Amino acid sequence: ARCPTIHRSFAEQAARAPEKTLFDLPGGRRITYRETGLTVQRIAARLVAAGVTPGDRVAAQVGKSPEAVALYLATLQLGGVFLPLNTAYTGAETDYFLDDAEPRVLVLAPGGEQRYPARRTAGLVVETLGTEGDGTLLSGTDRHEAVHPVADGDPAAILYTSGTTGRSKGAVLTHGNLTSNCRALLDAWQYTAEDRLIHALPIFHVHGLFVAVNMTLVAGASMYYLPSFDAAAITALLPRATVLMGVPTFYTRLLRSGGLTRESCAGMRLFVSGSAPLLAHDHRAFEARTGHAIVERYGMTETNMNTTNPLTGGPRKPGTVGKPLPGTEVRVVDADTGERLADGEAGSIEVRGPNVFSGYWRMPGKTAAEFRPDGFFITGDLGRFDEDGYLSIVGRAKDLVISGGYNVYPKEIEELLDAHPKVAESAVIGVPHPDFGETVVAVVVPAPGEEPTERELLEAVAGDLARFKHPRAIRLLDRLPRNVMGKVQKAALRERYRDLFTGSDA
Ligand code: ATP
Ligand code: MG
Repeated sequence: ARCPTIHRSFAEQAARAPEKTLFDLPGGRRITYRETGLTVQRIAARLVAAGVTPGDRVAAQVGKSPEAVALYLATLQLGGVFLPLNTAYTGAETDYFLDDAEPRVLVLAPGGEQRYPARRTAGLVVETLGTEGDGTLLSGTDRHEAVHPVADGDPAAILYTSGTTGRSKGAVLTHGNLTSNCRALLDAWQYTAEDRLIHALPIFHVHGLFVAVNMTLVAGASMYYLPSFDAAAITALLPRATVLMGVPTFYTRLLRSGGLTRESCAGMRLFVSGSAPLLAHDHRAFEARTGHAIVERYGMTETNMNTTNPLTGGPRKPGTVGKPLPGTEVRVVDADTGERLADGEAGSIEVRGPNVFSGYWRMPGKTAAEFRPDGFFITGDLGRFDEDGYLSIVGRAKDLVISGGYNVYPKEIEELLDAHPKVAESAVIGVPHPDFGETVVAVVVPAPGEEPTERELLEAVAGDLARFKHPRAIRLLDRLPRNVMGKVQKAALRERYRDLFTGSDA
């Protein structure tokens, strides 16, 4: 079956309800579906003039604006491949992506026109786009209306992974990946044209673009479109909105900001969390404060969304990421043998379905290594199913600590530490150890005003853990290193404590 592409679905919505608000911006400015459609056509004309042909990459390293979404749609309209880049990347990092992806056009913030002289000589077209719709990309008045026909298997985007476990990889997502996942999610979350989404995520990541924006465009819904997370702004919007899609740090910060009440959330029907594990105590505190149980879900750049807690037909289980979306198969297997594991046993999470990407850009070896012969993608995450078919993520394969030959799942220890009243949050890592290969180290952020000692924390968790899981050291930090999606940067922590047991001061 072929689904209409995201661009065609958007165009249908624009024809059906042209005056409907798509973007509701801070300060009261509104942009309709019709206006957005015109912007798409103007950008498409400019891209055609720049020489973009089907299959060409269009890279965008621009701020979050309505026009940036129009740029995405214009690229799809032309059969191009959209390539959003994190605006936090430095010049050297961006160079890596440009060398790797070889875009035809690079769109930067205004002022970037003169950057990359050598690449421009070699044929790269540099355009600019500001957050006010300023820049070269919208300087013309021509419009391009023709829509290039594409097949489900044609590439729509290259999205680089977050780089949490190593160098970012370019995941090639097809039109079929995007549309099938979008439709499954619209169903699962009963998302309709009546919804008013609070959109405070970045749009260079799978969560903000392919979950939140795609769903809104295809459903014909509206969004309160914030440049970034802002607790006060979100709190003020809650009485008017219906859905919030966030990462766990959103909820931690909203709870801390104190503005949440049952009354302010009475019109909301759905709070979603994903991209990183939601803290169990945030889940409980949020429900106690607002009456809403956050729906946690699990996705990744390579697969879009895999699982979600249900809205109906079953409970939302805190600590789990719910059940596979219809059409998506998720299994837990022994990482070495590939054999399926029984419920309750932790192993490698693997996914197959129309949502799974076509491969890593120009990395055939890596792609082959991450797929099983029967087509399942090896996610790199570890998890277990319960007897009701709910998946829990226990961590990443790369974060597993192997101490003296024993497997230690950091999450088990983190949950015990997090439950301690003097602990705000924790991260458990493996560091090199001369006798055990690796040993367990816990990094703890104290609760406000608390100064727990290493000894009391150890004593608090030791009774619940086998000896080989006991942290050999506990270090206090003011905050855990996180990226913009709220992911704890464990590699940075491992680096920081690398020499704890093997260095000169061991
Ligand atoms: P890289 O692949 O470059 O190391 P990354 O895996 O962090 O970076 P993303 O694709 O942005 O890049 O993130 C996907 C990962 O985020 C998943 O594989 C999983 O580890 C984690 N994740 C997503 N949702 C959840 C969740 N609800 N609970 C726990 N972890 C989650
Ligand atoms: Mg990953």
